[in-house]
Amino acid sequence: MNRMEPIYTEKTQCQDCYKCVRECPVKAIKVVDGSAMVIPEACILCGHCTEVCPVHAKKIRDDLDEAKALLERVKKKHPEVEVLQQTNPATLVERMIADPNVQQRRL
Ligand code: SF4
Ligand code: SF4
Repeated sequence: MNRMEPIYTEKTQCQDCYKCVRECPVKAIKVVDGSAMVIPEACILCGHCTEVCPVHAKKIRDDLDEAKALLERVKKKHPEVEVLQQTNPATLVERMIADPNVQQRRL
């Protein structure tokens, strides 16, 4: 399992049924230690394996909660962000990315 990848296998849920291995259109899944693991370099992120897995062991990475928490922290430090967010969310994200202070905190 590699939760840093967009599509990953929850190893504890995988039943080793090979369905995703058979159905992946680009053969980007291999079985490792009894779990069907995605090969990130080969995966085209079509999401098909997440649909066919009978036990929902194939997952799509979800950073929404983390992003919301980050936004809340930013809002506490910079209350003006709230206004920007309400007027144009896309602009807010663009400004955060362009903000050298945000860039520095990422490093
Ligand atoms: S997302 Fe698509 S390409 Fe990637 S492993 Fe799943 S089925 Fe294969
Ligand atoms: S379809 Fe689901 S349970 Fe079957 S091998 Fe793939 S991840 Fe495991």
